[in-house]
Amino acid sequence: MSDMHQALEKAGAGERITRAEALILADSAGVHQLGQAALEVRTRLFGQQAFFVYNQHLNYTNICVNDCRFCAYSKRKGEEGSYVMMVEEVREAIKCRLHEPVEEVHVVGGLNPDLPYDYYLEMLAAIKEARPGVHIKAFTAVEIAFLAQKYKKTRKQVLTEFTQAGLDALPGGGAEVFSPHLRSKLCPEKLSGEEWLKVHELAHSLDIPTNCTLLFGHIETWQDRLDHLQALRDLQDRSGGFLCFIPLPYQTGGNDLQAEGPDGLDMVKMWAISRVFLDNIPHIKAYWVFCGIKAAQLGLWYGADDFDGTLVEEKVGHAAGADTPRGLGIEQLQHHIQAAGMIPVRRDSFFQPRT
Ligand code: SF4
Repeated sequence: MSDMHQALEKAGAGERITRAEALILADSAGVHQLGQAALEVRTRLFGQQAFFVYNQHLNYTNICVNDCRFCAYSKRKGEEGSYVMMVEEVREAIKCRLHEPVEEVHVVGGLNPDLPYDYYLEMLAAIKEARPGVHIKAFTAVEIAFLAQKYKKTRKQVLTEFTQAGLDALPGGGAEVFSPHLRSKLCPEKLSGEEWLKVHELAHSLDIPTNCTLLFGHIETWQDRLDHLQALRDLQDRSGGFLCFIPLPYQTGGNDLQAEGPDGLDMVKMWAISRVFLDNIPHIKAYWVFCGIKAAQLGLWYGADDFDGTLVEEKVGHAAGADTPRGLGIEQLQHHIQAAGMIPVRRDSFFQPRT
């Protein structure tokens, strides 16, 4: 049996594969062979279930001191189109949707040096006051590290104080690709990959669950992708706090990076390799906003088990040209999942099924 077939057999059986084996699969396995192995793993874990959440996005400011080359969302202070949502506007945005069964509010923004520390505490408290019981998934590791540095607090203090104010979980953004070499080209001012991992490890130690991402389909190679996945798997072995991995296909619009973005085959391969390699991270997301609904439906057969959510008012992916609706109704989401041949299961932020 060839090395590729051996790796494929191990992957499908749910045995841990090495980085070298994953690289062989990425280089040599057919996309359907990979998909079959990933589907076996996914089916053992979740059967035909495909998860989604009723969520609302709040992008509280697009003013950012960084200048990530792939970002089409950020603006400088005073630049046309720059904005900040005041706490009362955040409260209103939540109240506007009280007639809908929103269970998760996803809050991320730019690194805005003019917002006082209390702004963040008040925003978290306002969301919980306006909609008691909602889960708040907020602030990337990049935002947490920025605020700790700016306000001369430890990261632990920031995470603890934010949790007391209402934070329930961290999203997975800001990971991009961990390679220092690529980061120096893509996002030189950004928190390093090593520090990103440290923030998540700290959150896990404080019992704050988090998520993780990889931005792919730009200037990285499969070696870079697998280094990134290896670092995530190693951390998960130590701390166990990742809920979901989200491979984010690079969006080509509105930025200076000369890259084409992944094609359909690359996307399904990415889901499949993620599923078989990340044997300790429970969920893999087909994030329809970034990859499109049709690709996300296919992703459910290539290892992904989560479709994300209704996400009204998402701005970050759409600023970069994501050619998808701004939000989906619950019936539409269920329809898309059912049309893909899966069983829609509504979940909360912690992936617990809701009735
Ligand atoms: S990706 Fe985030 S940190 Fe980078 S420029 Fe955009 S908003 Fe700022």
